[in-house]
Amino acid sequence: MFRIARAPRAVCLLLALLAAACGREGSPPGKGPAPEKLPKYQVREGFTLPASRTWARARKRGHFVVGAKEDQPYLGEKDPATGIYSGFDIEIARMLSASLGFPPKTIEFRTIASANRETALQNGQIDYYVGTYTINDNRKKLVGFAGPYYLAGQSLLVRRDEKGIHGPEDLDGKRVCSAAGSTPYQRIRSDYPKAVLVAYDTYSICVDNLLTYQVDAVTTDDAILIGYAAKAPRELKVVGRPFSKEPYGIGLPHGDTALRLALDDALQARESNGDWKKAYDATLGLSGVPAPHPPAIDRYPAS
Ligand code: GLU
Repeated sequence: MFRIARAPRAVCLLLALLAAACGREGSPPGKGPAPEKLPKYQVREGFTLPASRTWARARKRGHFVVGAKEDQPYLGEKDPATGIYSGFDIEIARMLSASLGFPPKTIEFRTIASANRETALQNGQIDYYVGTYTINDNRKKLVGFAGPYYLAGQSLLVRRDEKGIHGPEDLDGKRVCSAAGSTPYQRIRSDYPKAVLVAYDTYSICVDNLLTYQVDAVTTDDAILIGYAAKAPRELKVVGRPFSKEPYGIGLPHGDTALRLALDDALQARESNGDWKKAYDATLGLSGVPAPHPPAIDRYPAS
């Protein structure tokens, strides 16, 4: 009964979301990626890094294999028709590839969900990973991190007509969706145990569940949620203030310090020459948040 009574509304919401994605007649087109504004990353000729086993493996292969997300607007998105990836994380992956001597267009991107990142890096499926990946001490035991290249914070996405959820303290008894293996999932479980947690592989499945009234909120980083809200502003809104610090790093195989420091140097150089900001403005900046100052890079000692 309950579900049947709500179905028509759910269908309306889904249709509305589709219409928003396709561009509705009479409304301004949503801001898509701005490929013409993206910087061209100069490839460093003659660069070598033999001390890095990951780099040496890529040299033999001829290109980098990079892990990413494919369903996070403005950050990491894959065009289903062309298979081309775009977004801020993707640009970070491209500028770093260029700095390490590989033309960015040769990168082979692989979609890896939050819960599978450490394994993918450990078993050599990917050379490095750029996909809203928070640097923390637990993960540092399993993988290395260059960066950070961006600072996000955990937040909440709800339906536009939601009146009762303004922050994490309002989640008692509410159904809250997040991605398995993510820091936001972990934080709700430990700090807000009265919330009813629902986990999926990806945040886009959570958003579908929010639009169809299967859950009451989606929680993850503000940078990710703002993207979903920007794509469906009539259906969704981000509420409250960020309640954590999520510094995004470039994940790499544990112990490959040569690669880590080379990526740190490359990132620093791309921040100084303006490429970082240009890339931000043409991707994540389109969601409406002006470019912040990039956080200080943390060249932590090898363990
Ligand atoms: N930044 C958080 C994390 O690394 C959430 C986003 C994600 O799952 O990629 O867990």
